[in-house]
Amino acid sequence: MNFQTIELKIHLDYSKEELLKKINKKIHIPVKTFEIIRKSLDARGNTPHWLLKIDVNSPPTDFNILSKTLIPITKIQRKKKVVIVGSGPAGLFAGIILIRAGFDVTILERGKEVKERDLDINEIYKTGIINNESNFAFGEGGAGTYSDGKLTSRSKHIKIEKDFILSSMITHGAPREIFSLLHPHVGSDNLKKVVEGIRKEFIDLGGNILFNTQFINFDFSYDNVKNVISSSGFHDCDYLILATGHSATDTYRLLINKGLTFNTKNFALGFRVEHPQALINNALWGVDSLPGVKAGEYRLTSQTDSGSAYSFCMCPGGIIVPAAAKHGSSVVNGMSYYNRDGYFANSAVVTQYNYSKALNREVHALEALDLLQSLEEKYYNVTKSLRVPAMKINDFINSSSGTPIGDTSYQPGVQEMDISELLPRETILPLREGLMDFSRKLKGFNEGNILGLESKTSSPIQVSRTKEGLCQGFNNLYFLGEGSGWAGGIISSGGDGIKGAMDIIRKETGH
Ligand SMILES: Cc1cc2nc3c(=O)[nH]c(=O)nc-3n(C[C@H](O)[C@H](O)[C@H](O)COP(=O)(O)OP(=O)(O)OC[C@H]3O[C@@H](n4cnc5c(N)ncnc54)[C@H](O)[C@@H]3O)c2cc1C
Repeated sequence: MNFQTIELKIHLDYSKEELLKKINKKIHIPVKTFEIIRKSLDARGNTPHWLLKIDVNSPPTDFNILSKTLIPITKIQRKKKVVIVGSGPAGLFAGIILIRAGFDVTILERGKEVKERDLDINEIYKTGIINNESNFAFGEGGAGTYSDGKLTSRSKHIKIEKDFILSSMITHGAPREIFSLLHPHVGSDNLKKVVEGIRKEFIDLGGNILFNTQFINFDFSYDNVKNVISSSGFHDCDYLILATGHSATDTYRLLINKGLTFNTKNFALGFRVEHPQALINNALWGVDSLPGVKAGEYRLTSQTDSGSAYSFCMCPGGIIVPAAAKHGSSVVNGMSYYNRDGYFANSAVVTQYNYSKALNREVHALEALDLLQSLEEKYYNVTKSLRVPAMKINDFINSSSGTPIGDTSYQPGVQEMDISELLPRETILPLREGLMDFSRKLKGFNEGNILGLESKTSSPIQVSRTKEGLCQGFNNLYFLGEGSGWAGGIISSGGDGIKGAMDIIRKETGH
């Protein structure tokens, strides 16, 4: 059988039979099997179509095998104990790698298993009260579990780690297409299954995961962490991995007070914008919908004299959710399901905020955390509830207010007001000019709504560590994933977790 890789164009709502016919026409050899290895939408011009790269007559990829062979793992000789704090992408993927290498691994997770976490999230909607340990940010799978599940990463240095994460996800129930799509997404419905599956694999391999268990402190002497104190007791460890994400401000404060070095950095501040998905589709394609394509996506950037603004984490067909990790704070974010078939589309629109520049002096990491906390509380205190401040984009652009915003996907509701009264002064002009620019690029963008505070796009502080995650001044303390300030997003945080785990294996085995 002759193996070939071919590329072809095909119309949007093609059937399997039509595709097979096209392949046969292109290669003139009998086609026994084929697998799409790359799929991207080309919506430029008058006839949008798919661009496909296809392996013909090769055995279909076995993702279970791939997930076990992609990263060669050397087994350790003498059992060593690793405690990982956090079961988000960074902690979970670090755990899977280390358990395969033969370590004794315990994951401490302050939140609950996905099924129980689901109930607490429903309670947020019912009562308006956030459970401080189990919410959109905290719990099994971390912040990524209730998300759009976009699996893209801007980093070019984690190709193998990315393929490992995708093949593990497919093994645990994610659609195979995430491996071939140019902009893959898995949806919150699939993510919940995937996270449970990875946890079961981790436990089957001998790993230990303690839910409802908050990391409280650790003891160290010189450069060595000796043991960890959690709400469940003491845990001896040879290595400690912190993978706490960037909502765990209590953990940040503890680490700063214990003397870990953190630098402040620019971080993203802004809001969510929301439009009917059909408006976005029309702006992108000139029609309400395209056959065979779920929903249109945009990624917008703008650079003006006053600064930059960009859209981030767009959720086609998604909803806006109350994503704060603490009662009395208000933060929004976006999530969607695999089908992306909701009425609305939302995305973050943010600008980079430099707190040191705003104060004209170098700020301390604790001050950056205080700023964020006070902003999130300020938004909450407008309504003393999860109802968020909201306004029309047009009003924000024109420095006016008062136009009713109409319907939104954000279930707790809104309070119409001028949002420019709430954000730091330096962010307003770049955001305003950015929205004007986006409205020139996408027709009707200015007719959308602005909701709430988007403050969790990136961390305001960054730990001093090696690129593998080893914290400055320590020999066995790693800070991995988004909380470290060196990663952001599911793939990049998971990849950072894998790199940290591989560094520990190298230390123990020399490979
Ligand atoms: C609503 C939403 C939608 C998102 N959508 C996307 C998307 O579509 N694509 C994308 O790439 N990214 C998305 N993100 C961002 C993405 O989820 C994060 O970048 C990623 O989850 C970070 O992974 P992490 O493992 O570093 O940290 P996290 O996922 O934040 O996990 C940290 C874990 O540590 C636990 N923890 C914290 N402190 C302690 C403690 N003291 N003791 C014990 N446990 C602790 C937490 O409970 C949590 O489970 C979204 C985020 C949100 C909130």
